[in-house]
Amino acid sequence: MDFDLIICGGGPAGLCLARALSGHGLRLAVVEQQPLAALENPAFDGREIALTQHSAQLMRSLDLWERIEPHALSPLRDARVLNGPSPFAMVIGHALGPHSELGWLVSNNLIRRAAFEAVQDSQRTNGDITLFTGETVAQARTSSSAGQVTLSSGVKLTGKLLIAADSRFSATRRAMGIAADLHDFGRSMLVCCMTHDAPHHHAAWEWFDYGQTLALLPMNDDPATGAHRSSVVLTLPSHEIEPLLALSPPAFGAEMARRFAQRLGAMTLASTRHAYPLVAVYPRRLVAQRFACVGDAAVGMHPVTAHGFNFGLLSIDNLAGIVRAAQAGGRDIAAADGLARYEQRHRRATRPLYLATQAITRLYTHDTPPARALRDLALHVGERFTPFKRMVAASLTGSH
Ligand SMILES: Cc1cc2nc3c(=O)[nH]c(=O)nc-3n(C[C@H](O)[C@H](O)[C@H](O)COP(=O)(O)OP(=O)(O)OC[C@H]3O[C@@H](n4cnc5c(N)ncnc54)[C@H](O)[C@@H]3O)c2cc1C
Repeated sequence: MDFDLIICGGGPAGLCLARALSGHGLRLAVVEQQPLAALENPAFDGREIALTQHSAQLMRSLDLWERIEPHALSPLRDARVLNGPSPFAMVIGHALGPHSELGWLVSNNLIRRAAFEAVQDSQRTNGDITLFTGETVAQARTSSSAGQVTLSSGVKLTGKLLIAADSRFSATRRAMGIAADLHDFGRSMLVCCMTHDAPHHHAAWEWFDYGQTLALLPMNDDPATGAHRSSVVLTLPSHEIEPLLALSPPAFGAEMARRFAQRLGAMTLASTRHAYPLVAVYPRRLVAQRFACVGDAAVGMHPVTAHGFNFGLLSIDNLAGIVRAAQAGGRDIAAADGLARYEQRHRRATRPLYLATQAITRLYTHDTPPARALRDLALHVGERFTPFKRMVAASLTGSH
């Protein structure tokens, strides 16, 4: 079967790219290993995604934003960074920027559902997207004239441009011979939704405690009970996560309240618990002959700076603009100069924060006495240095 563009992976990035390119005279294929039912009704996966103002804008332009119920969009007003047992916090307030909130928090499964619905609408209107679900990309290669993938069922697809949107561990990227720098932090993150006694005032916490890292992502109060609600992220060495997943809900609530030093009062588990290994990935190349990586396949961020999907949306915006312009001008959508421009722009947009995130996590997971002193000093200096805080606020709103 012949297409213009084959997107390997129907996660949020792959679906957003299909939506961004629909209606421009291109025949698009999306291959996703999950069954159709999992795309239609994506299960809660624990992730509450912090979206910048710029990402919210991109999601509006892709017609995703309006598909998410307003009460499921939680405003993120401020961010507080804490260190060790000290109550001192560096505060990045929304007042440092032009908006009444730094960004928004939205559950990943709702983003996935909105992206799928938008793709279905595009397909109904333009008839240019073919979805292959329950199919794994088993082989991928390109030549100077075309890209080809073989699906697990044996079906072969050809296209002018092949896209890897199949996660940070992208098999398609590997099949194309692209090496990646991978950093395994030897830690895992436990994520779940919890209710708690103390209000969060819509401030996120990133708390680099000794021996553990805690994050609190403020969600709107539970519409049914009015209880204060947050997404909670606990980072620990991987072997310490397993026993926490096995605790009974009441025991888990008590354990999390203890880990949060009772700062939120009593805490109650309000969702399923999910664990993710912490691995950051940066490929050496983002493009090859008739091939490009988007989403996590292009940059697999450590979630601490909450930029993974924000960068994913940037990659879609950037690549889709180049492909649409080539198509409108009657040029090859996979021309080497266009792909090189995409790679250069996306590396420039992502590489500095990727490296800064690695440095922050290295410093804030060291617990030796000199490291503790340095961690404390860095926070105090950061709090007093307004230009630095403005820069962080700009990064959180996506306006830099
Ligand atoms: C705990 C946690 C918290 C996070 N918080 C934030 C945040 O606050 N802000 C933020 O911006 N980002 C955050 N992220 C990152 C965000 O979740 C990812 O950037 C985003 O989900 C990546 O989307 P994607 O489509 O590129 O990849 P994925 O979501 O990994 O989707 C890849 C898709 O490809 C499919 N696939 C894989 N291999 C194949 C194959 N061979 N054939 C066919 N299909 C295949 C998979 O089934 C999947 O559907 C967080 C991540 C985690 C783990």
